[in-house]
Amino acid sequence: KIYYDSDADLNILKDKTIVFLGFGNQGAAQAQNLRDSGLPNDKIIIANRQDHYAEDAKSKGFNVEHDFSKAAAAADVLFLLIPDQVQPRVFNEQAAPHLKDNVTIVIASGYNVFYKLLNFKSTQDVVMVAPRMIGSSVRSLYVKGKGFPCFVSVEQDGTGNALSTALALSRAIGATKAGAIASSAREETAMDLFAEQGLWPNIIMLFREAFSVLKEAGCSDEALCYEMWMSKEPAEIFERAAEDGFIAQLKHHSTVSQYGQLNGSLKLDGTAIREHFKEILYNQVLNGKFCQEFSKIEADLEKEGDENPLNQLYKKSEESELGQAEKRVRARLAQLL
Ligand code: NDP
Repeated sequence: KIYYDSDADLNILKDKTIVFLGFGNQGAAQAQNLRDSGLPNDKIIIANRQDHYAEDAKSKGFNVEHDFSKAAAAADVLFLLIPDQVQPRVFNEQAAPHLKDNVTIVIASGYNVFYKLLNFKSTQDVVMVAPRMIGSSVRSLYVKGKGFPCFVSVEQDGTGNALSTALALSRAIGATKAGAIASSAREETAMDLFAEQGLWPNIIMLFREAFSVLKEAGCSDEALCYEMWMSKEPAEIFERAAEDGFIAQLKHHSTVSQYGQLNGSLKLDGTAIREHFKEILYNQVLNGKFCQEFSKIEADLEKEGDENPLNQLYKKSEESELGQAEKRVRARLAQLL
């Protein structure tokens, strides 16, 4: 099901106090869109620690509250728009104990709800309004009068009106203009984490291996970097795929290329990778194994230098032939500029 503006009634929001917990990528974009949709500024509160995000919100004319418990107590609707990894701690400790029994909690990603990491009362509504776009695009597309792709779902219907509220909020942030797709926290989490842990790691690996094979065959670092990604050809291919169709975009390529790509991909046997993908989906994502593992290292992600596991992964990845070559190419290019 796809919901459009005509499915949503903004009037049901007009007396509600709407709190945005977080004014980052999504928070800043969604709060501005919602206000520009005609919801009164004096009913919108930005809850943020006292720093540059709070200053940004103030400079844009919003009311800012630094005390999360105060903001939570005032909320009829609470948009939870802080990073996923800090949500359980911040929401459960600083917001949840103060929320009204009939509040609507809005999440923009399924992760913490699917893995049951947030504490809600059964009387509260929990809805997902999850843009499939970075915050700057959520804002710029709204300003241009266009919509943006978004998933919407009701995860808990405490009041019996959760869907109408979710749709009204989707419309207010500009998501129903292009059509908001009915989804669920499970579906969103499965697709998101599968792409991150199954699909894209394989694509990174394919580029890494392709680079090494071509390099061994005598291709230069510069030629390879430009051929493979710095020319932006892959970005253009995906742009065309979104517009014309995943397969139909091939028609923009030369006949030799079309033949090579279609024939080559049909000849490849996907059995092994399909089994690998299933393993990731069922035994890493859907069974919660990744979530458990990630929660063990989550606190270390705020550390500096080599103690931060993400920095270690970057370091290791940059040691690859592709990583080293790109470093050299970019250093040379910087000298030329
Ligand atoms: P950001 O990283 O941009 O969030 C920054 C905001 O979170 C700031 O207001 C920051 O304020 C606050 N914040 C960060 N750490 C803490 C903390 N420990 N305690 C309190 N506040 C904190 O997040 P996004 O906008 O990227 O993500 C928000 C949600 O939207 C997530 O659920 C994400 O999955 C989802 N989403 C994100 C997309 C994107 O494009 N980024 C796309 C679609 C969905 P301060 O540091 O001042 O406290």
